[in-house]
Amino acid sequence: MGVKLTLLNLVQCPPVQSAVTLYRLKADFMKTKHIERVVAPGQPHMVGDGFRVHNFIPGIYLNMQRMNPFIMLDYGSKHYFAPTNQPKGVGVHPHRGFETVTIAYKGKVAHHDSAGGGGVIGEGDVQWMTAASGVLHKEYHEENFSKTGGDFQMIQLWVNLPAKDKMSKPKYQGISNADISKYNLTNGDGIVEVIAGEYKNVKGAASTFTPVHLLNAKLKTNASADFSFPANYNTALLVVEGAIEVNGETEVNTDHFLLFGNTGEDFTIKASSDAVVLILSGEPIQEPIAAHGPFVMNTHAELVQAFDDYNNGKFGYLED
Ligand code: MN
Repeated sequence: MGVKLTLLNLVQCPPVQSAVTLYRLKADFMKTKHIERVVAPGQPHMVGDGFRVHNFIPGIYLNMQRMNPFIMLDYGSKHYFAPTNQPKGVGVHPHRGFETVTIAYKGKVAHHDSAGGGGVIGEGDVQWMTAASGVLHKEYHEENFSKTGGDFQMIQLWVNLPAKDKMSKPKYQGISNADISKYNLTNGDGIVEVIAGEYKNVKGAASTFTPVHLLNAKLKTNASADFSFPANYNTALLVVEGAIEVNGETEVNTDHFLLFGNTGEDFTIKASSDAVVLILSGEPIQEPIAAHGPFVMNTHAELVQAFDDYNNGKFGYLED
């Protein structure tokens, strides 16, 4: 069947391009992932008194559905916390319907939840908590880190669950850096840590419910690494240290976020200085999102149920 010309697809037609640009566009769409936008970090805000974060997802340019299954990303850029005897953080609060993933770059985070999960993660470690049907948890700076003070830098990512798993049993995966698989780039150029999913046949330690790739590329100055993910996967990166050039054309500085379009598969990053880059790519979950505060479900009725269950103590108990 031929394409029917309607007002709608007329409006969607791109403006007239030069032959060269058209050729480029065609090549890009066929193979190279197209760069949709570079997002600078906005003003930080405090989550509790311990997490000073820049919010990238959902943000001005992308909503939860656009980056699904990555429905929230808070980035705590490097920040010095003074010594204190009273650990800073977030007190007891609930979650239902998704997973919280905390990646520590500097400092130490302690976690406890009502399902019995808990632990301390430090530099290079990851904590992957599946809230699913519901947990209460609390997140604090670790006690000794609090006493000495120091630089603190971390990411908290929320990974959505498909409807069929939203009410499954909570789970906790504490993943120390030693347990994270590493792909060694040639010539001592650096490594790619595979937190989840895979990179060049190296598989990640974290188990996930839907296809998710979560990588930390740690590159020396001038080193390059290439990546390939299906075009329909929602894909982005965040520069945690240093600066990089993406696809030989776009410079991305420290603390900046780059969103790829859903065209093409491959991209290359080259470190302009020693760099650490978080790369996330996941298959979109094609289901409606109903989100309110700490609950992310599919329908409004399920959100109401979550509040009811929480108010009726069905999330368990956790001491303050
Ligand atoms: Mn939380």
